[in-house]
Amino acid sequence: MRVRVRTYGLGGCGGAAGAVASARNVPAGGGRGNRRFRSLRVTQMTMLPHALERVPAWADAWRRTGRLVLLLDFDGTLAPIADLPGLAAMPGTTRHALARLMSMPGVEAAVVSGRALADVRERAGIEGAAYAGNHGMEIHSDGLDHVHGEAAAARPVLELAARELAAALAPIPGAFVEDKQLTLSVHYRMSPRDRVDELTAIVERIVNPLPGVHLTAGKEVLEVRPRVEWNKGKAVLFLLEHMRPPAGAPVLYFGDDRTDEDAFRALRERVGMGDGILVSRAPGSETMATSYLREPGEVGEVFAALAEAWTLASQP
Ligand SMILES: [Mg+2]
Repeated sequence: MRVRVRTYGLGGCGGAAGAVASARNVPAGGGRGNRRFRSLRVTQMTMLPHALERVPAWADAWRRTGRLVLLLDFDGTLAPIADLPGLAAMPGTTRHALARLMSMPGVEAAVVSGRALADVRERAGIEGAAYAGNHGMEIHSDGLDHVHGEAAAARPVLELAARELAAALAPIPGAFVEDKQLTLSVHYRMSPRDRVDELTAIVERIVNPLPGVHLTAGKEVLEVRPRVEWNKGKAVLFLLEHMRPPAGAPVLYFGDDRTDEDAFRALRERVGMGDGILVSRAPGSETMATSYLREPGEVGEVFAALAEAWTLASQP
């Protein structure tokens, strides 16, 4: 098939020069302006290709197999991270590019998020997509409604934790508990940096003794989760069993956070069944992703490039 091949300079080839250039983009908190520290970051950075370089191969495989599966985290991936969860929104360009792509033959999408299912479904609002909420503990698509039974059984403990955490964290400005029914999130993005250790200690003191739940950490958030063998990786494999893409079809998972690594790993371990795309300005060497994008806006660029590749290949 004919595709328009573009090259992407910064970090695109993944060589040493790309790594140095990307290291300059380490965001606040990571870029300490210290030459020794910066060179340390460079050695720890991975040599992943930029995802836009992979588009011709993905479009080719989509064309060959007739299927393209998109698995999409929401916050930090489809939508830029916002100060408050209620403010996160998908940019219009990404929404438009995704809608166009989903109107093309053989394209399926699922949104896989830490948000509650109803919340992420309303916020993403992608027609025809499947949704996995609470890190996949609840899943909805055409003909499929699944709630993890053991996770649901932990609800009374989560209710207790939510009440105790809300009371104990009240003195810390900007901290708040989001009750997502199957999990809790303690958000502290808006809290003073010098109160974060205290916040963490309070959350650990309350949650660690509770039966059947455990703590995980994400970007400016601590989560209280039922202690069950379930994560975004298992959710993705569960979804793929229902989607049943043919061998060799591109299965692309876009994500930005630690919980997405479970999905990257699940796809890697299923040979020929997928690629993880990490959204990060400074992808670390420990990632299980196979390519990267610098920021959420570039996710929309990949959607647009895939649609463009298909359109070009379909022209006589
Ligand atoms: Mg995310």
